[in-house]
Amino acid sequence: MPGFRLPYSNRLKGVQAVKKNLETLYELQEIDLKLDGIAGARNSLLTEIDALDQKVAEAHQEMLAKDEVLAALEADKVQLEATLAAEAENITRSEARLKEIKTQKEYLAVSKEITAARKMRTELEEQLLQKITQSDELKVAIAESRSKLEALEKNIGAQKSEVQQKVDELESSIAADQSAREEKINVLPQSVVKRYGRLREMRRGLAVVEARDGSCLGCNINLPPQLYNTLFRGDELITCPHCQRMVVFRQQPQVNNK
Ligand SMILES: [Zn+2]
Repeated sequence: MPGFRLPYSNRLKGVQAVKKNLETLYELQEIDLKLDGIAGARNSLLTEIDALDQKVAEAHQEMLAKDEVLAALEADKVQLEATLAAEAENITRSEARLKEIKTQKEYLAVSKEITAARKMRTELEEQLLQKITQSDELKVAIAESRSKLEALEKNIGAQKSEVQQKVDELESSIAADQSAREEKINVLPQSVVKRYGRLREMRRGLAVVEARDGSCLGCNINLPPQLYNTLFRGDELITCPHCQRMVVFRQQPQVNNK
């Protein structure tokens, strides 16, 4: 129907609908930006919690490594003690044999054996003493680490619950915004909501921008005058030819409190 124009009252309704949609979209975006901010803050808090957990895990790991060294030392000790006992038994046996020996030659051979066994026993005793010293020192170090770890866990536990509380506060504050968001979306045409979502993805969260003094505030480029006039009439959904964002012409709020 060329040249057809809606009766004035219908055109007025159309204008009001577009204006209202744009206004609602703008408000929706304000909520979404707020939610984006909350999500960002929440993520960085969760990263903080991870870092704290990491600290405790590292301290635990160090502790376990020391425990392993201690276990190896203890095993060495047991081994050395067994060898020492066997060696002592050899010596006792040889000494008993010595009393029953008849020939000089045999006597010398067994005496030599005993001397070698005693030397071995001394060496083993020294080794064992070394292991005992190392093990005792390590036990002290482990006890120290353990109490440090406990203090760290306590300290970090407190820090974590502080951060977690902030996360909980953020999460509970989201609920109201999300229901406000739902309300806005329910009154908007689906196609507009879809377009809004796509634009937000493409334009770093900003789908709807204001026009002021002839420019798009999304990209700061001047809008063509014809477009600006249409925008001023408010009966069409206008997109910026440069950044493709939806442009809204908002009445500046009056400042009365002067
Ligand atoms: Zn633009």
